[in-house]
Amino acid sequence: MAKADVVVIGGGCMGLGLARGLAGRGRKVALLEAGGAAREASWAAAGMIGAQSEAMEDDAYFAATVVSRDLWPDYARGLAADTGADFGFHPEGGLHLAFGAAYESRLEAKYLWQKTRSGRVERLEKEDLRRRFPFLHPRVSAGYLAHGDYWVDNRALCRALEASCRTLGVEIREGCPAEPLEAEGGRVGRVRAGGAEWEAGDVVVAAGAWSTPLLKGLLQPPPQVSPVKGQMLSFDVPESLLPSVPLHGENLYFVPRRTEEGPKLLVGATVENTGFDKRLTGEGVEYLLQGSFETIPDLRSCAIGEFWAGLRPGASDGWPTLGPTPLKGLHLCCGHYRRGILFLPLTVDSLVQSVLEGSLPEATRPFAYGRHLEGEGRGL
Ligand SMILES: Cc1cc2nc3c(=O)[nH]c(=O)nc-3n(C[C@H](O)[C@H](O)[C@H](O)COP(=O)(O)OP(=O)(O)OC[C@H]3O[C@@H](n4cnc5c(N)ncnc54)[C@H](O)[C@@H]3O)c2cc1C
Repeated sequence: MAKADVVVIGGGCMGLGLARGLAGRGRKVALLEAGGAAREASWAAAGMIGAQSEAMEDDAYFAATVVSRDLWPDYARGLAADTGADFGFHPEGGLHLAFGAAYESRLEAKYLWQKTRSGRVERLEKEDLRRRFPFLHPRVSAGYLAHGDYWVDNRALCRALEASCRTLGVEIREGCPAEPLEAEGGRVGRVRAGGAEWEAGDVVVAAGAWSTPLLKGLLQPPPQVSPVKGQMLSFDVPESLLPSVPLHGENLYFVPRRTEEGPKLLVGATVENTGFDKRLTGEGVEYLLQGSFETIPDLRSCAIGEFWAGLRPGASDGWPTLGPTPLKGLHLCCGHYRRGILFLPLTVDSLVQSVLEGSLPEATRPFAYGRHLEGEGRGL
C-alpha cells in the first residue's frame, strides 16, 4: 500500500492548486486524477477573475469573491516566480457593455451598487467607447469598466500549477480514477484508485462535477454537485479586433488571449443542464456565433480556431463546499460552478488551513459542509 500525508482526488485547478499549497508546507502529497491533469472544467474555462461581473447582493458569497480576487496578484506573482511561466495574468479590468437605454439603467444601478463596495467602476460614454473599441456594434450604447476584474490564461495557469507540483515532489497519478470513499471508525484514511491503494492522514475530494458519487455512502446528505455544460469557441483575430480587456455582452463574454499561434478571442458560454454530456450542439454553436456577430460584426470574416465544451461543478445552492467534514481526515473542495478560477487562491488557503488546522478562514466559513444542517448560509 502506498502512503502519503495527503491524497488529493482530482487534478483540476483546485486539486493542483491545493496539492501545491500543501506540498509547499512540507506535506507528502499524492494527487489522483481519473483522466489527464486539468483537462476538464479548468481547461474549458475562460479564465475571468470577475468578482464584479455578476454580483448585486451583499452576501458572504460576494464578500468571498472579493477576498479571493484581492489575493490573485500575489498568488500570480508567487506562481510565476516558482515556475518562470507566463500564464497571462492581467489586472486591467473588464468592460461591461450596455445595449440601449433600458440596459444602461440596469447596468448603472448594478455598478453604482458595486462602486460603494469596491470603488473601482468607471462609466464610458458612447464616443469614448467608439474611440477605444471601434469594432463594437453601433447598438452598443455605453460601457462600464470594472477596474477590479482580472483575467488569466487558465490552460497556461494549470500547466504552471502542474509544473510547480512536480517540482515540489507531488506524486501525480493520471488515468487513476478514485473509487467511492469509505470510512472506518469515523475516519477516512484510505483511497482505492486504478487498482492500487493509498493510506493517508487526510483525503481531499476535489473532483469537480464528479465529486458527489465519491461521497455518497459517507456523508448524509453529500454535497449536491452536478454538471452544468458550457460550450465555447474561439476566433483567430487580427490585432485590430483584440480588445484590451474582456467584454461582457448580452449573456455572452469575449476574452482576449495571446497564444503562440497568434491572438484569439474566446467567446462563451452556454449554460445547460444536460448531465455528463460534453458534446457540442448546433443550437449552442448558433447561440455563440449569433451573439458574437451582434456584438463585434467583423468577427464574421475571422477564422474559427476551436470549439469546445466543459462541465462546471454546479452546486445546488450555487455555493462551493469547502473544508473539514464530520469524518476525521475527509475534506471537501467542490462546487465552484462558474467561479473556480476566481476562487483559486482563497480556496487553496482554505484547504491548507483545513488540512493543517481542521478549520476554515473567516471568509470561507459560510461554505463549510453542514451549513444547511445548521440553518446557516443557503439551504442545499
Ligand atoms: C465553459 C466554462 C467557462 C468557465 N469560465 C470561468 C471563468 O471565466 N472564470 C472562473 O472563475 N471560472 C470559470 N469556469 C468555472 C471553472 O472552470 C470551474 O469552477 C473550475 O475549473 C473547477 O475546478 P475543479 O478543479 O473543481 O474541476 P475540474 O477542472 O473539472 O477538475 C476536476 C478533476 O477531477 C477529476 N476526477 C473526477 N472524478 C475523479 C475520480 N473519481 N478520481 C480522480 N479524479 C477524478 C476530473 O477528471 C477532473 O480532472 C468556467 C467553466 C466552464 C465549463
